[in-house]
Amino acid sequence: MQKYNFFMPTRVIHGENELVNQAGLLKQLGSKCLLVTGKTSAKASGALDDAVEALTSQGIQYELFDQVENNPSLENVGAGGEAARKFKPDFILGIGGGSPLDVSKAIAVLAVNDIEPEELYRNKFDNKPLPIVAVPTTAGTGSEVTPYSVLTSSELETKKSFSVPELFPKIAFLDWRYTEKLPLTITRDTALDALSHLVEGYLSRRATGSSDLLAERGIKLWAKSLKSLRDGALAPEDRDRLLVASALGGMTISHTGTTLVHALGYSLTYYHDLPHGRANGLLMGEYLRYNAQHVPQRVTDVLAWLGLKDIDEFAQVMDELAGSMPDLTGEQVKEYAAKAVTTKNVAYTQGDVTEEVLQKILGNA
Ligand code: NAP
Ligand code: FE
Repeated sequence: MQKYNFFMPTRVIHGENELVNQAGLLKQLGSKCLLVTGKTSAKASGALDDAVEALTSQGIQYELFDQVENNPSLENVGAGGEAARKFKPDFILGIGGGSPLDVSKAIAVLAVNDIEPEELYRNKFDNKPLPIVAVPTTAGTGSEVTPYSVLTSSELETKKSFSVPELFPKIAFLDWRYTEKLPLTITRDTALDALSHLVEGYLSRRATGSSDLLAERGIKLWAKSLKSLRDGALAPEDRDRLLVASALGGMTISHTGTTLVHALGYSLTYYHDLPHGRANGLLMGEYLRYNAQHVPQRVTDVLAWLGLKDIDEFAQVMDELAGSMPDLTGEQVKEYAAKAVTTKNVAYTQGDVTEEVLQKILGNA
């Protein structure tokens, strides 16, 4: 019988305007807050104004660090850590896509531990990270309900995550209105990330009875908005469903981790500047073909939940949403496969994933 435990300590608050309505919860986390955002979207989405209103209503003092870049680097989180050490907040409130949410987690550690950003990868800290509140403005990473922070290391020439259980945000506010202004390309890219978490989680070696429930529900929800994603016309119901599906994806990978799709996708982002979700989407068709050899019933389940007839149709939909793969040389294919093969993500994938298997997946994609 399978042994597993289920741990999801984040209070998830779903609904419109709940950040303002439930501002009292913030007061329980302290009287000084560092807001962490990217350069423009937190403001443009309306989430920053709501956060400021919520903090002000509770008499919570705040400062803003709004310098988070996409696919944040260790240098970028170092700057945020500096800001936090000066201001000495009691908690962090991150607003944005996965990038600001992941930086919030890094800052939560750096604020109270005198370490260099690269030491985050040790996954062990003397002092407990500050509490985090997460407000997603994309529907993709699920970072608002995961203990992971994915950072870009120029020394390692890749993206790599660090994690401790205390990095699960204390509260996640899911308000679809903050995703309303997302341009179609970012909507699709991030939706592909959410789908990849759900599917990779369901196909992972570490899938459990409870992660399966989350993945199934998430894939079915996501599927209800597939037509809108393809048509490029998203209604509020679609935005809301995708946001919830994304959070279910985050909860899923909090238990299963991700698999080879993420391991290979990181090189496509690092070397070819592809957005994270798009990189995953481009690899998903081949990934499903690979898994059909190992867990055929699970692949059949995924296709059925998505309402797609076979892997060819799935691959076609992924290409339609993600666009085209950059041209890779034979050398690049070998190099990215060699980089991915040693990762935990690959270890969580079904079957025996050798460099040759990864080269084939990347080459065929
Ligand atoms: P992102 O890098 O956070 O943001 C991408 C772009 O979207 C930015 O230009 C951002 O603008 C803009 N944007 C965000 N919200 C918007 C809105 N509501 N309206 C208009 N524009 C908006 O994208 P992401 O895909 O959400 O996050 C990707 C990162 O998360 C990657 O580093 C990935 O590795 C990581 N990730 C983490 C986890 C995890 O569990 N922690 C899981 C998967 C992926 P601004 O710069 O102005 O904000
Ligand atoms: Fe991801």
